[in-house]
Amino acid sequence: MPVELSPNVQRLRPSATIAVSTLAKRLRAEGRDIIDLSAGEPDFPTPEWICDAAVAGIREGRTGYTPAPGLPELRAAVARELEDRAAPGWELGAEGVVVTSGAKQALFNACFTLFGPGDEVLVASPYWTSYPQIVALARAEPVFVSGAEERGFRLTAADLDAAATERTRGLIICSPSNPTGAVYSRDELGEVVRWARERGIWLISDEIYRWIVFGDEGDGGPGGSGGSRSWAPGLMDLPPAEVGPHVVIDGVSKCFAMTGWRIGYAVTDPELASKLAAMQSHTTSNAATPSQLAALEALTDGRRARAAIGEMVSAFRRRRDLVAARLRERLPHLSFVEPEGAFYLFMRVDGEFDDEVGDSQTWCSRVLEETGVAMVPGVAFGDDRYVRLSYATSDELLEEAIRRLAEER
Ligand code: PMP
Ligand code: GLU
Repeated sequence: MPVELSPNVQRLRPSATIAVSTLAKRLRAEGRDIIDLSAGEPDFPTPEWICDAAVAGIREGRTGYTPAPGLPELRAAVARELEDRAAPGWELGAEGVVVTSGAKQALFNACFTLFGPGDEVLVASPYWTSYPQIVALARAEPVFVSGAEERGFRLTAADLDAAATERTRGLIICSPSNPTGAVYSRDELGEVVRWARERGIWLISDEIYRWIVFGDEGDGGPGGSGGSRSWAPGLMDLPPAEVGPHVVIDGVSKCFAMTGWRIGYAVTDPELASKLAAMQSHTTSNAATPSQLAALEALTDGRRARAAIGEMVSAFRRRRDLVAARLRERLPHLSFVEPEGAFYLFMRVDGEFDDEVGDSQTWCSRVLEETGVAMVPGVAFGDDRYVRLSYATSDELLEEAIRRLAEER
């Protein structure tokens, strides 16, 4: 007898990004020579000084619950770190910060708390694969809105006008973008932010890749004064008067190579923050205490954070340059969005479609079969003409992957 499920999960699909990396790991375990360009995580270990803080905390017996929205000192550190680099006028306090088990939970808490049946939520497309699923779990309707391809799909107010209806309650954007690597300039972001404010639409701004950006200003990191500016423009870079109702989504997973620690956070007004915390108090309670201690260290020691992030960002920049150059040389018929941040490259492959291979899923399966190179089909991000490759892997493997793509098909 078929299992009868609640309408809550009627439209739920498992994460495609996680599915591809799981498949790549399984094939490798079976002895296949796999180059995994599907992974959405840095290939670096968490810096040792961050790990040490968690270990010390465990040894000191800090192994019990914390308050649901997080350790007070971590909430304060998140607020301080944001305020240090915010435009003048922002007053961010610990009470607006909710620490979660990964940024994914921050997104879920925000969408579940703000949206419901009958609501439409605009999702900037190409989108990270979990956004529409999370919106659908709240039983709201995701509505996809895409900017022009030649601008790296970044949105303008005109794009948003064309997609909004009287039921629009929210907008989710991500810069630097997963999956495209596109980064909004301050002016571009300002246009979107003002559009949302003027309509009283909740803006959910996913800034989890904020430090992984390849401007020419040099690498920095949290802690303020030391480096030149080196983060992607985010909501708090705009004057507070320009920003309407909002939730900033962030965390330590990507910028500190801490994906497995599961620490993210939402930053919003204190009234909504207390609802987010109330919801979390009935679902997962607090994020893991040792992980919170590690995140606290990451956000407190600005000097070491800048050095660690700087090192990772220069590796990502070098690999971005390498992949872009090799693709242009060896596969010039495949265009891609110019990656300016994060560690993804979004490549257009529909020029290779034919009678047998007519969509991104089949293209990726075929390439995996023939060359052992794993990538994520663009359909998982809302654009079936594209595939996403992650260059969070060694230079040698990237060279080899592109060689195989050019020679072994
Ligand atoms: N937002 C984006 C854009 C991401 O790529 C990810 C990666 N999983 C997340 C949120 C979730 O991050 P976390 O691992 O901290 O839950
Ligand atoms: N965000 C990463 C990705 O896009 C990790 C996997 C996931 O959480 O979906 O691949």
